[in-house]
Amino acid sequence: MSPTAAEAAADGATFAPHVLRWYDRHRRVLPWRAKPGDAPDPYRVWLSEIMLQQTTVATVGAYFDRFVARFPSIAALANAPLDEVLHAWQGLGYYARARNLHACARDVVTLHGGILPDSVDGLRALPGIGAYTAAAVAAIAFGCKSAAVDGNVERVVARLFAVEAPLPAAKPELRRLAETLLPDRRAGDFAQALMDLGATVCTPRAPKCILCPVQAFCRGRALGLAETLPRRRARTARPTRRGIAFWAVRPDGSVLLRRRPEQGLLGGMIEVPSTEWREQAISDVAARKQAPVRASWVRLPGTVRHTFTHFHLELAVLAGETDGKAKTVTGDWVPLDRLSEQALPTVMKKVVNHALGVARRSRR
Ligand code: SF4
Repeated sequence: MSPTAAEAAADGATFAPHVLRWYDRHRRVLPWRAKPGDAPDPYRVWLSEIMLQQTTVATVGAYFDRFVARFPSIAALANAPLDEVLHAWQGLGYYARARNLHACARDVVTLHGGILPDSVDGLRALPGIGAYTAAAVAAIAFGCKSAAVDGNVERVVARLFAVEAPLPAAKPELRRLAETLLPDRRAGDFAQALMDLGATVCTPRAPKCILCPVQAFCRGRALGLAETLPRRRARTARPTRRGIAFWAVRPDGSVLLRRRPEQGLLGGMIEVPSTEWREQAISDVAARKQAPVRASWVRLPGTVRHTFTHFHLELAVLAGETDGKAKTVTGDWVPLDRLSEQALPTVMKKVVNHALGVARRSRR
């Protein structure tokens, strides 16, 4: 009779060899991953784990080599100005990660001589490194016996053990169960093997159980529940917030940009100034009172839409020409041909493209 996952858990040495044998044949080739037999580079491991938070492997793949070419080491990253790092991060989103990455590199240089700590606790103490990232980096870069439980691994474990409690409440239990599966050797390969298994075989829809190296251990499959796991608490709908952006242009063609506050959403990024973003729409009259510079504001046709994790955003745009002498509350005038050098998050690039598109169409 096949052992259940619970039985396998009693003897981690039984379960892991199946996963590791499969990994040796089917591992994904990823830009940050060491080749078989090569020692992993902790910088690349850490960087990839930060980039992969809330971003897909496909998206990160396109950025990773470019980023490493620009910042080839932790020391290079620490020595670079924050703006340069934010600029290189453009397109990956969730810019707090880039800010923490930079702060972390500086701490590693200052406190650890430029070398990442090789333990979960040492890593956890650094900016931007949470429980999952510390466990993943410790396992992959340093071979620590730590359970790196990302979304893929949560799914595999929930199915293996037929955990029916919904996420996110089930997270601690899934983590505890994942720990029971850890082998004494090849901790880094095992962590990556479970990630790969979740990404390529134990997929959210239609898991390929027939190809799965641990199907004999899988209680979820035995019970016919696999595809329904992990369960999730019903999501609440994202609210919509609204605001008005100010596209201020000087006679020399420069536009007014400003830096967002260091803390909070898109912290420290460059933006087209705007009103607050809130659920209740703001009138043009009320918005004009918050304008960053004196101008005769005209509402542009259309709306800029963007979706963040917790809300949808709709931005109207007021465009205004200034004589260039009016004092601004905050911000800098930036020539149009230098906009691409600014650390503009995606939502602000949409505002820029919208305003430039309207201007182009009105000239035709
Ligand atoms: Fe996932 Fe199926 Fe493998 Fe179970 S047998 S771990 S459900 S792929």
